[in-house]
Amino acid sequence: MNCKLTDRQVDRIAGEFGSPVYVFHEEAFAANYRALLEAFRAIYPKYNIAYSYKTNYTPCICAKVKELGGAAEVVSDMEYRLARRLGYNAGGIVYNGPVKGPGLYEHLLEGGAANIDNLDELRSVARFAGAHPEKTFRLAFRVNVDIGQDFVSRFGLDAYEFPREGAEIDEAVALVRAQPNLRIAGVHCHVGRSRSLEAWRNRVRVLFALIDRYFSDDELEFVDFGSGMNSVMEPSLAAQFGGHIPEYGEYAAILAGAMREKYGALPPEKQPVLYTEPGTTVVSGYLSFLSTVQSIKTVKGKTFVTFDGSGGNMGDICRLKQLPVSVFRRGQAPRMCRDAEFAGYTCLEHDEMYRGFCGEIAVGDVVQFRNVGSYSNVFKPPFIYPNCAMVRLKADGSVDCIKRAETFEDVFSTYIF
Ligand SMILES: *Cc1c(COP(=O)(O)O)cnc(C)c1O
Repeated sequence: MNCKLTDRQVDRIAGEFGSPVYVFHEEAFAANYRALLEAFRAIYPKYNIAYSYKTNYTPCICAKVKELGGAAEVVSDMEYRLARRLGYNAGGIVYNGPVKGPGLYEHLLEGGAANIDNLDELRSVARFAGAHPEKTFRLAFRVNVDIGQDFVSRFGLDAYEFPREGAEIDEAVALVRAQPNLRIAGVHCHVGRSRSLEAWRNRVRVLFALIDRYFSDDELEFVDFGSGMNSVMEPSLAAQFGGHIPEYGEYAAILAGAMREKYGALPPEKQPVLYTEPGTTVVSGYLSFLSTVQSIKTVKGKTFVTFDGSGGNMGDICRLKQLPVSVFRRGQAPRMCRDAEFAGYTCLEHDEMYRGFCGEIAVGDVVQFRNVGSYSNVFKPPFIYPNCAMVRLKADGSVDCIKRAETFEDVFSTYIF
């Protein structure tokens, strides 16, 4: 579903909520979410999405995930509190991350599962379990494995080569087996920057070999494969990634197919839940950013179009790729530009929003930058300007505000004057 706004929608949104402004495309978000879910459930019904809060923790978006039946994948107490506030109980939350807060213990006491990142964390949890012998605690191991990535990941228990004497994973399993009220409920693996089908085949192969070595077939409640699927992109963006962009059905054939093969013969209640933890895959395409041209100048033959928004509003993606953009003519006397740079309001030389623009553009024009759902508003520093508002475009065509613009007070209330 395309998130390009119509002229009327731009007029309504900019007219009522000003510029710049984020737009959450709720209906398209839900359609994509369901397509991902259905591709996997068609093959392995016990699949669910654990939505990565850090990718975009806008409460209204997280609430939509909850409404669609998804779990919450959190990596800090801040995100954990948000999930609780949105009404999740411990069972609906996957607590991940290398540095968890005290909320971890509340979560464990209430029966939630936590994915252990390292031995020091595991030792603390084991001590806590020792002090609460009346309770059973559910853990999963985040494992650090070789799926052919070209970098050394710092996350998870080292299971890079196994079996190997003295591997962290062996020590972790021994620690849990020695503490009667600790239970291994799941295995977790998330490797960034690895979205190819080949990387997914490797994940399955390596994780299953690890499961076979350490766990009995009906011991695990869940297997969590982390994030790492491409999202559905507009052609102009997809082309910049080069090569084949896999569809959800192709990922599902590998992952859900392997789960069905391994666990399909077990009675359904014994089959582990298959989780993936998409952030980008479910959110990146469904937030766009409207910003207005403030000035146009040409210096030494190079044209700069300066906006009331910034690359900081949209995140790294606008520097790494050319986002899909649409210009809405609202100004007078457009200028024909060749190879113009769209630049932000900051005083940084390299606040680039788009490069190589060719076409007509005028001061006062509104530009829609699409595909800015990941690491954007949640990553925006209070640098030079506070952040702008976010609105939601609903299925019935109406628009409401889901984040008001930040103010001077919001930024300075934490400082001591
Ligand atoms: C960041 C992260 C995700 C989400 O990654 P995306 O690339 O945004 O989809 C999922 N799981 C874990 C453990 C993460 O750290």
